[in-house]
Amino acid sequence: MISPRDPHPLSPASSPPNQASAEGQRAAELRDLLNRAAHAYYVLDAPVMEDPVYDRLYRELLELEQAHPELRSPDSPTQRVGGKPSEGFKEVEHRIGLLSLDNAFNSEELAGWYGRLLKVLDREASPGEPPSALAMVGELKIDGNALALSYERGLLVRAATRGDGERGEEITTNVRTIQSVPLRLQLAEPPPWLEVRGEALIPDASFAAINRERQARDEALFANPRNACAGTLRQLDPKVVAARRLDFFAYTLHLPPDWQPAAGDPPLPRSQWESLRWLEAVGFRVNPNAELLPNLAAVADFFAAWDERRKQLAYATDGVVVKLNDLRLQDAAGFTQKAPRWAIALKYPAEEAPSRLLRLSYQVGRTGVVTPVAEFAPVGLGGTSVSRATLHNADRLAELDLHLGDTIVVCKAGEIIPKVVRVLTELRPAAAQRAELPSVCPECGSQLVREEGEAASRCVNSSCPAILRGALRHWVSKGALDVEGLGSKLIEQLVDRGLVASIADIYGLDGALLASLERMGPRSAQNLLEALAASRQQPWHRQLYGLGIHHVGEVSAKALARTFTSAEALTAAAREAPESITAVHGIGGEIVQSLQQWLATPANQQLLEQLRRLGFSLAAPEPEPGAANAAAPHLAGLSFVLTGSLPSLSRSQAQALIEAAGGKVIASVSRKTSYVVAGVEAGSKLVKAQGLGLPVIDEAGLLQLLAES
Ligand code: NAD
Repeated sequence: MISPRDPHPLSPASSPPNQASAEGQRAAELRDLLNRAAHAYYVLDAPVMEDPVYDRLYRELLELEQAHPELRSPDSPTQRVGGKPSEGFKEVEHRIGLLSLDNAFNSEELAGWYGRLLKVLDREASPGEPPSALAMVGELKIDGNALALSYERGLLVRAATRGDGERGEEITTNVRTIQSVPLRLQLAEPPPWLEVRGEALIPDASFAAINRERQARDEALFANPRNACAGTLRQLDPKVVAARRLDFFAYTLHLPPDWQPAAGDPPLPRSQWESLRWLEAVGFRVNPNAELLPNLAAVADFFAAWDERRKQLAYATDGVVVKLNDLRLQDAAGFTQKAPRWAIALKYPAEEAPSRLLRLSYQVGRTGVVTPVAEFAPVGLGGTSVSRATLHNADRLAELDLHLGDTIVVCKAGEIIPKVVRVLTELRPAAAQRAELPSVCPECGSQLVREEGEAASRCVNSSCPAILRGALRHWVSKGALDVEGLGSKLIEQLVDRGLVASIADIYGLDGALLASLERMGPRSAQNLLEALAASRQQPWHRQLYGLGIHHVGEVSAKALARTFTSAEALTAAAREAPESITAVHGIGGEIVQSLQQWLATPANQQLLEQLRRLGFSLAAPEPEPGAANAAAPHLAGLSFVLTGSLPSLSRSQAQALIEAAGGKVIASVSRKTSYVVAGVEAGSKLVKAQGLGLPVIDEAGLLQLLAES
């Protein structure tokens, strides 16, 4: 169905003190911007903004002018049709003005138009007895260019663009190349003159081909088929026009007022539907998808059905046009300055729209990363209302150069996640403040840290409530300790009420207290306590992953836990032999740095200690006596002799690593020594080892051995 749309996405957040002048200023800004955009669109065929963005800004100006008629000025784009005719072609005056169409974007606006139409007809056509249901014709709104074709005695004598509605450009030679425009009408006795209006269009395939050619020649691309069509119609070389295979659908017929057709010719049409048939009969191509619609409900159905169906067409459409069928009633309804009252263009919901940036809010994730979120006036996009979009990080913020109060263009990326695409800087309020990331954490107030080369700013206070909530959610998640029954809402309550200040605290929670919390009861409290108790048996790699150390995901936690079989071993390696960590397959410098930071933080070591006391192993299980070595630390049972100095590890670091992996370091070489690790200036121990034929390895060999599992 037709989607809802917020009518005022761009109106200021709160009423400014001097409303009249603020609105006057806004109207002037919009007039200026829209006039420039219309010039780029109609004259240069090179739009500077997306059509839906233009439409919404135009609508805002229109509403401002309706509420404050004194703001309406003759140079307003609402006061004229299209653009000025461009230079290079002869300007011609239309016999009958070519108007634009009023737009409706949702069912309320459609109903509003229909209600106004009924009122006008009641007054003008059948006083006191308005027609109960008006038959209408639904046509596709083809995204092309309106043409005015003039025929004299059945011969095409002139073709013109719409221009400003009164005067357009004469492009007869070009239009003659369009095969679906008849040069002579199939009428035995044609009228002295007749005027036909319709849409010239460029099929999608030709549009794509033209843009490919332009790209190859390094020329600016056409933004959409409508612009490509307009650009083609204004080509000075008709051969180029012919090659581009434009098409034409006729939809309006004007005949001399007192003319009567001859006997064998089609009878005089009395409705829009009959006009379409008449046009067809005399040789025009009429779009086959038009329908006669008995009432407003049928209009809504027609509109809804074509939203999907139009995607199968070989040409672009951006809505449907609804026209009152009865030509006498059309005459009675008449025109506004810009458009007929008896027709309306119903446009499909846009995927892109402008809105006004109200404020930035911030989300603090479990790793402390602060993500800015744009909050803007609600705007209808692709059928839903959106008012927030993540801005990712400070770099994106700087790239967009966002200021509070800015008019932003929002789109729905992949039709799901709203995204701020760009800013219309022309509409920036005078003293607008640049939107910047805060220097302190919005949750706990501690100083944020931004590492060299990193786009993210982070809060590094481990007791920040936002981080704590995230850390708890992560600890209990499926891949980590997998505690059922501790959802986000409960975590929020626990943190916000100060009932837990660390992961360890959830293991000290009292059953009665849990049962008293919102949405909890004795049974769910008991289940939770049992789930918590069971979680202590989860293996070491899950515990490691559950700690939520930045960059340590499930896979790297598994790899680390295999090599470093306890929290102590990992702590020692991080402190004394970081190379031994990078030697683990799949572990890079980023992870090591983050492990070092995390493990060196006293609060985190304290957490490990608390967890140990709560019964968490924080280590791989000890091998069963007599069991195969499979589950044992992989250097268990091996002995090492160190000799000479190693390039990067000190003797004690090497020893710590070997021991962490279950090996033993002994002082002297014997037949039983498993490996001799030799560095520079290795002495007699190396000679002895070689004599005994023992394996001799260097530091790299040792690290390799440590990394293997
Ligand atoms: P319109 O496109 O909203 O509607 C009128 C036009 O619809 C007619 O002139 C005709 O060409 C066309 N049409 C297609 N099928 C029709 C049918 N079956 N019956 C009758 N008419 C039919 O209004 P407009 O005044 O031509 O142009 C306004 C449009 O141009 C807006 O959609 C706007 O987005 C766009 N525009 C964009 C920019 C920009 O910067 N992007 C600038 C100016 C205008």
